[in-house]
Amino acid sequence: MDELPGGIRRVTFPLPLGIDHVHCYLLPGHDGWTLVDTGLGLPDAAERWRPALEGLEVVRIVITHFHPDHAGGGSDAQVLTGAQVLQGADDYEQCVRVWGSEDWSERMADHLQGHGLPDELAAELRHESRAFAPFIRFARDPELLLEGGEVDGWRVLELPGHADGHICLERDGVLVAGDHLLDAITPTVGLYPESRPDPLGDYQASLRRTIELAPRLALPGHGDPVADPAGRARELLEHHERRLEHTAAALGAGPRSGYDVSRDLFGDELDASDRRFALAETLAHLERLVHEGRAARRFADNRVTYTAT
Ligand SMILES: [Zn+2]
Repeated sequence: MDELPGGIRRVTFPLPLGIDHVHCYLLPGHDGWTLVDTGLGLPDAAERWRPALEGLEVVRIVITHFHPDHAGGGSDAQVLTGAQVLQGADDYEQCVRVWGSEDWSERMADHLQGHGLPDELAAELRHESRAFAPFIRFARDPELLLEGGEVDGWRVLELPGHADGHICLERDGVLVAGDHLLDAITPTVGLYPESRPDPLGDYQASLRRTIELAPRLALPGHGDPVADPAGRARELLEHHERRLEHTAAALGAGPRSGYDVSRDLFGDELDASDRRFALAETLAHLERLVHEGRAARRFADNRVTYTAT
């Protein structure tokens, strides 16, 4: 556990896949502690939490977004602390739609197959997503948070993009950022089934809002604290502008699938899991180009393709 300015504590857990760790934060308050995010719901999640929470009265748990490494340990943390869980209203709805259903991995694989993902990669994804399901033990029936709300003196901000209903907390220039803003890593932004239609447009708007807000410090879900959040938001906007140009350059008069474009942008050497992120990210950029009038989407024979306009 690390002590941060303002009496905030950071608890870090290792992750078995992808990014190798996740941070959760404990915010001191007048009536007890607010825990932000809960890590992955590994079988020993409660044991992992116990030492960090020893002697602390946690009175509420806030979930920034429904991804497994943030919401997955929600139920364990709730049982251990007896605290009320709070989660963004849109985010909880999506959380239930995704993790509360039996056939999510089928819907995801069908969606990506419709964008040209080869059958054998889709089959691998179906298998992998099912294997992951036991580690997502989110807390049911949280108190729902909305933009402009307040949690023990912290302002609730809806900053969609990395997840449709992603929320952050802000007080005195400190942004508890979840994965909205990361320092050395570019937060993923992807188009998923039954999600908002233009996630990259959402994310660009959230980054612009972060620049206006100009917090002095952001505490992210992964990596080091962000000392210049507005500067980092500008970098991320530039990154996506460059990627939009590359995406536009991959399109021509003939129809191309999102999968084909993702191979131009991310190469051919990805396993099924990384290909899923690469394809979802490519689709977010293609849909942004459609919204900007720079690309057209067509649907025929159960396949979606894109052309330049
Ligand atoms: Zn994360």
